[in-house]
Amino acid sequence: MTREVAVLRLGHRPERDQRVTTHVGLTARALGAGQFFLASDDAGVVRSISDVVDRWGGDFRAENDVKWRRCIADWKAQGGVVVHLTMYGLNLPDVIDEIRSCDRVLAVVGAEKVPGELYGLADFNVAVTNQPHSEIAGLAVFLDRLFEGRELEAEFPRARIRVIPSARGKLAEGIPEEE
Ligand code: SAM
Repeated sequence: MTREVAVLRLGHRPERDQRVTTHVGLTARALGAGQFFLASDDAGVVRSISDVVDRWGGDFRAENDVKWRRCIADWKAQGGVVVHLTMYGLNLPDVIDEIRSCDRVLAVVGAEKVPGELYGLADFNVAVTNQPHSEIAGLAVFLDRLFEGRELEAEFPRARIRVIPSARGKLAEGIPEEE
């Protein structure tokens, strides 16, 4: 069963992708990944994600300005598999069991067109349907299928704030440090 998941974001354009890339990182964190690599230099995006980790807890790490080929090579050298999310890949239900049997998974999502080389470097090219949509949606469905819904029950240690689930309204509470 998969123990460790990281997400690599390619093609980020600081002048237009900041919101979407931040949401890729926050989705990765909320749905069970442990690490986020940004293959672009945008320290503000990584800072926004890290600020959420500081307040809402967990051990998620975000890294700015990684070299994507090096990131993939290192991941593979450490025994991980690389899953490129793309509408052109094999459909998710046909490959998710095999991916789930891998210990460490690096999910790669693009912004605009990704370099063609990535299709060959990936161990799996996986489609969340063969229809065009969004990297955030693709990543969310992929992680949920990978973890089979268990990520929805996760706790985030060392949070300074947490939501009190309620049927109506917005309730949250600060958490004292010693808890
Ligand atoms: N037109 C671009 C291309 O040909 O690569 C895709 C742009 S799309 C807005 C950005 C990213 O969303 C893609 O790189 C891919 O990671 C993800 N994506 C979009 N549709 C997808 C799908 N059906 N399945 C998996 N990932 C998808």
